[in-house]
Amino acid sequence: MKNGIWSKRTFAVVLATLLAGCSREAPQGKVVDDAARALGGKERILAVKTLTIEGEGTDTNLGQNVTPEGELPTWKVTEYRQTMDPARGRMRVQQVRTAQFLFAGATVQRSDQGLDGDVAYNVGSDGAATRATAAAARDRRVALLHHPLTIVRAGLDPSTRLSNPRRHGNQQLIDITTAKGDVLTLAIDSVTGLPARVISLSDNSNLGDVAMETTFSDYESADGLKLPKRLTTTVDKYPQSDLRVSRNIVDGDVTKLRAPETVKAAALPAAPPMVVTADPVAKGIWWLAGSGNHHSVLFEFADHLTLFEVPLDEARSKAVIDKARSVVPGKPLTQAIISHHHFDHSGGLRVAVAEGLTIVTYRGNISFFEDLIARRHTIAPDEMEKKPRKAHFLPVDDELTLKDNTMEVRLYHLLDNPREGTNLFGYIPRDHILVQADLYDSTWTQYPWADNVLRNIALRGLRVEKDVPVHGAMQSWAEVLKTMQLRGAGGGAGQ
Ligand SMILES: [Zn+2]
Repeated sequence: MKNGIWSKRTFAVVLATLLAGCSREAPQGKVVDDAARALGGKERILAVKTLTIEGEGTDTNLGQNVTPEGELPTWKVTEYRQTMDPARGRMRVQQVRTAQFLFAGATVQRSDQGLDGDVAYNVGSDGAATRATAAAARDRRVALLHHPLTIVRAGLDPSTRLSNPRRHGNQQLIDITTAKGDVLTLAIDSVTGLPARVISLSDNSNLGDVAMETTFSDYESADGLKLPKRLTTTVDKYPQSDLRVSRNIVDGDVTKLRAPETVKAAALPAAPPMVVTADPVAKGIWWLAGSGNHHSVLFEFADHLTLFEVPLDEARSKAVIDKARSVVPGKPLTQAIISHHHFDHSGGLRVAVAEGLTIVTYRGNISFFEDLIARRHTIAPDEMEKKPRKAHFLPVDDELTLKDNTMEVRLYHLLDNPREGTNLFGYIPRDHILVQADLYDSTWTQYPWADNVLRNIALRGLRVEKDVPVHGAMQSWAEVLKTMQLRGAGGGAGQ
């Protein structure tokens, strides 16, 4: 597994540091010095107060492709403006993104995010700033270093530890550990000395240990500095963003980088309490909702229980699994149906396997799920990392019926949907109940694939009376049809 190398590499870094000591005079300083010289010299770099980059590009939605190996949905990014103050650890990123794919939410989104030292904040469309989480602050602190100017400046800082110099092809690599403990790898081009890329490691709850890598190219001269006009970022093997810089502005307007005092004084946002409710829907069927907008459904068979959906992440899914076991004590929970591979729906895959559940899913998801299960989660160890367990799958092709003398759940592959290629929905013939994820959500602003959903239901000959969803509220089928009609059934994006 290629993912194992990171933990080994981290170990090697620690070892190399112990052996080499951490003197600034050690040869590892040369990589940073070379990079500083290529960018315009140490004095010039240290004199920069702010750098603003403006441009346009693309962003992707990780884990939201039509099929697990398909291309990621893309946003077009415009009005991108990122200002960095490396000396004070301040940054502000403003952008507008427009969905280039069918989307049931807002297709144009404006965001405005800031960092001031350890304080991360978001600015709403009304101009009001609110404090963001500690995790957001950490992510933005590292993101600030994914630029040649900021990473080389960090490398020049006496409080920074440089270690593990090494060569990779025509690049010279060095690990940089900041005073805050963030570890990044800088790669410079051996010929030009210019930074070629920066790599940092982080945890992704689906993918585990992932490398975020930003590649720099198209350098231009600006105010005595060399600055890239293109920044391309990947996460693991996936493209994340591609930014084409139209203007590099050195020491421009710096007035808006400081976090408002009210934000600095505000407490970190508290994680909402994890609530899992169990609403009886029909005999032997419960809707497990509560906090958030990712629900699950529990079915009671004669000698076992089956869950529909283990969503979001380990915390939510473990709470749902525990709740399911408490609703029908004494009957074993043995199966989890995962509706599709999208990350917010498969986030509980690993904990479900660790809890001994057989995974029921569309056959086209299985090799991808096997890869997710085999991945390492050393940065934020989950249950599977601590106690690996073999996965068992029950693959579904076009349809599958789970049935005994007390319960019957039919599962169907959703056909020809423009957003969901691997989606299974459920139908309970006794109660005329539809159980589904992403076919319909009462909270969506538009229903661009309503026609496809109605065609699938007609094709299977289902007589739906009630919708029991993963997203949104439970509704009668009459209400569902009415809402779809009001907000964009007919194939076009409503609104
Ligand atoms: Zn969804």
